[in-house]
Amino acid sequence: MAKKIIIIGSGAAGMTAASSARKFDSGSDITIITEDEDVAYSPCAIPWVLEGKNSWDRIVMHDPEYYSKEKNIDILTRTKADSVNAELKEVSAGSKKYKYDSLIIATGGKVFIPPINGIDLEGVFTLRTVRDGKNIEACMKKTDRVVIAGAGVIGLEMAVALHNTGKKVTIIEMMDQVIPRIADRDMAASIQKHLEEMGIEIVLKAPVEEVLGDKTVRAIKAAGKEYPCGMVIFATGVRANLDIPKELGFDIGQLGAVTVSPTLQPYKRGRLVNDIYLAGDLIQCQSAAVPGPTMSQLGSSAVRQGAIAGRNAAGDTAMLGPTASPWISVIGDLQIAGTGMSQGLASWYGISIVEGVAEGLTKARYSPGGKKIIVKISAEKSSHRIVGAQILAGEDANGRINWLSSAILSGITAESFLALTENAYCPPTSTVKDVVLSAVEDLVHNLSS
Ligand SMILES: Cc1cc2nc3c(=O)[nH]c(=O)nc-3n(C[C@H](O)[C@H](O)[C@H](O)COP(=O)(O)OP(=O)(O)OC[C@H]3O[C@@H](n4cnc5c(N)ncnc54)[C@H](O)[C@@H]3O)c2cc1C
Repeated sequence: MAKKIIIIGSGAAGMTAASSARKFDSGSDITIITEDEDVAYSPCAIPWVLEGKNSWDRIVMHDPEYYSKEKNIDILTRTKADSVNAELKEVSAGSKKYKYDSLIIATGGKVFIPPINGIDLEGVFTLRTVRDGKNIEACMKKTDRVVIAGAGVIGLEMAVALHNTGKKVTIIEMMDQVIPRIADRDMAASIQKHLEEMGIEIVLKAPVEEVLGDKTVRAIKAAGKEYPCGMVIFATGVRANLDIPKELGFDIGQLGAVTVSPTLQPYKRGRLVNDIYLAGDLIQCQSAAVPGPTMSQLGSSAVRQGAIAGRNAAGDTAMLGPTASPWISVIGDLQIAGTGMSQGLASWYGISIVEGVAEGLTKARYSPGGKKIIVKISAEKSSHRIVGAQILAGEDANGRINWLSSAILSGITAESFLALTENAYCPPTSTVKDVVLSAVEDLVHNLSS
């Protein structure tokens, strides 16, 4: 009889897991159960749709019929998996029960909203799905003043998108810098300046206290002050969706996500659980940079993990290696990127780091169109191992942050990186010595002084 693989969740992790399982095992029965109404879309692109630079049709890449016809994968949309019985190997969704041989739980994360008054008013949103995006789009027609609660990457991308459609945007953040969780303070200060120069108001050290209004939002109150607005978008962080894992008694780690083995199996009271795999925003995994676990709540990580979960569910044995979690965003004219350990994480772990910084251009000085780029790289003071990097650039941050992620994953020291690295060069594409190498030179110098 064909093996039955059930996947709960149709985000990046679940969809990749399904395709990966199908590639490995052409004969299995694969079913995705998802609450979502759309599948195979990129939430990452929603800010650009709302800005008018992309469209819903383009970012929803396939529908369930495509998966059924082309990949022989069944998708049940608008279907909530209510519970899982691991003894009977059965998923319950409404009145129906679905048997499985292998189960993948890819139920993602939930936007954290502070427990304050007024969050149920009309005009208050979170952003996770295409449906959320369409609801925001509808409300954009009714108001010109928007408050974004939370200055993480998603909050900033949304602020820029709405600003570029002509809205007056205020970002309210309870910490004392933008992108507080992952960006270094100096990088964050440059990003803040860039946003303020665009005309976006940023209020720091201001915990949101209340959303005000009768039926609809009139204002938001933060740190004792009222900010009038007709729409509030909470981009206040994502928590692992633990509904099903907790019900199953799986071990939850210190970051508040499910602890998994390198094969992405959960543990129950310390013992590995067979035939169940997890991937995406709900798990914590081994960090390549810090001495402990990390939650890599990124689309790219969800895809990497989903591919492994899918193979294992189909009968292979694939392992997830350590994670550096490279991230990148575009904020107005600025590309911002990071990987590995930030200053904040280093101090949280009590690790002494040394930094090297270099500023340069993305093309030869005499080539037209080159953009400014700043690269900052950090190494652990005791071992000289490269553990983190951040980039601010007019363009071309992506390849460089991936390059530095490989350095972190390989455990290489700053000195070895310098000795073993070359860069390609052509004036319209690069400088003869890449700014990454200049930053590592500065790092090596600082480590030896
Ligand atoms: C606006 C925005 C921009 C982003 N930009 C980037 C970016 O530029 N780069 C990047 O790397 N990452 C980005 N991310 C993060 C990235 O999108 C997420 O990390 C990724 O989508 C996580 O994938 P996932 O499959 O784990 O979870 P999700 O995409 O959240 O999918 C979870 C799925 O589970 C379903 N589900 C949950 N519970 C149940 C249940 N009980 N029964 C049935 N179905 C259920 C949901 O309906 C959903 O289909 C962005 C996220 C957002 C919201």
